[in-house]
Amino acid sequence: MNRKGVILLSGGLDSTLAAKILLRQGVELEAINFQTMFGCCKDDARQVAHELGVRFTMIPVGMDYLELVKNPKHGVGKGINPCVDCRSYMFRLAKKMMQTVGASFVVSGEVLGQRPMSQRSDCFETIEKETGLAGLIVRPLSAKLLEPSLPEKEGIVDRERLYDIAGRSRARLLKLAKEFGIENPPQPSTGCALTEPEFAKKVRDLFQHGQDGERWQFEILKVGRHLRIDPGAKVILGRELSENEYLEYLHPKGTTLMTPVNFAGPTALLIGPGTFERLEAAGRMILSYTKHLPGETPQIRWENEGSNRILEIGSALAEADLAPLRIT
Ligand code: SF4
Repeated sequence: MNRKGVILLSGGLDSTLAAKILLRQGVELEAINFQTMFGCCKDDARQVAHELGVRFTMIPVGMDYLELVKNPKHGVGKGINPCVDCRSYMFRLAKKMMQTVGASFVVSGEVLGQRPMSQRSDCFETIEKETGLAGLIVRPLSAKLLEPSLPEKEGIVDRERLYDIAGRSRARLLKLAKEFGIENPPQPSTGCALTEPEFAKKVRDLFQHGQDGERWQFEILKVGRHLRIDPGAKVILGRELSENEYLEYLHPKGTTLMTPVNFAGPTALLIGPGTFERLEAAGRMILSYTKHLPGETPQIRWENEGSNRILEIGSALAEADLAPLRIT
């Protein structure tokens, strides 16, 4: 066993402190973070790694990650967040990285009892068992409340200089941040859309309708208003200029892009085969979210696989018809 560890670095306060505690002991660290299709990573992790002076690798998760969102073994939180399964998945990737870079253990900034779903000692045990990392995860912030890890037993990490922090209060973490000279400690945030109940509805809708085969179908869930026309088609409407531009830029193969011609209104992306009825329904949705309709018949351009035509739309959908179609 050597003095090198792979740390799961989120860019938040806890993992930053965990890194500082071990770096102070002369442990060599490699940092990793994960890019999921749900925005579960912090952009500043790279910056934090740079400030810590450790090498940083961002790992995009594969489509296999979706399987654990769809069928979590250990349940979900208040949204559709399968935290225990997700942590297992991440520790598995960390283990691979550990083997690749010749490290001997994994380091995590988890605090016992801080998150009721995944930061309990029984969850730590489950994760260690499932990932084959039993005894190989060092949690510097709560180590003294846990069974000693192998690096602690072997004296590679000095257990006496680790901590016994537990629970949801941030007081001791902030005190430690001061000791380490961390100015403006970041506020706690998972940055994970899966924890939001409203977002969870959109993910469930995709799974339910089998529109879940491609990464962009998940990445686009963060953009616009989502409305389901029927089981085979849904519409995304931009809520502001930047979202309209994003939909126009993305316009994935097989989808239909719809843009107002003679008035200012939202851009729409129709996902699913663009039959006349669906195009008309999507056009009426555009009118429903348009502030000022033109004095003449509203025209909407639709583009799909090289076709580029104009559709004239008679009237907006009434709120009573629109409401049941809203996914969120
Ligand atoms: S909050 Fe999101 S990223 Fe964090 S463990 Fe849970 S599912 Fe994974």
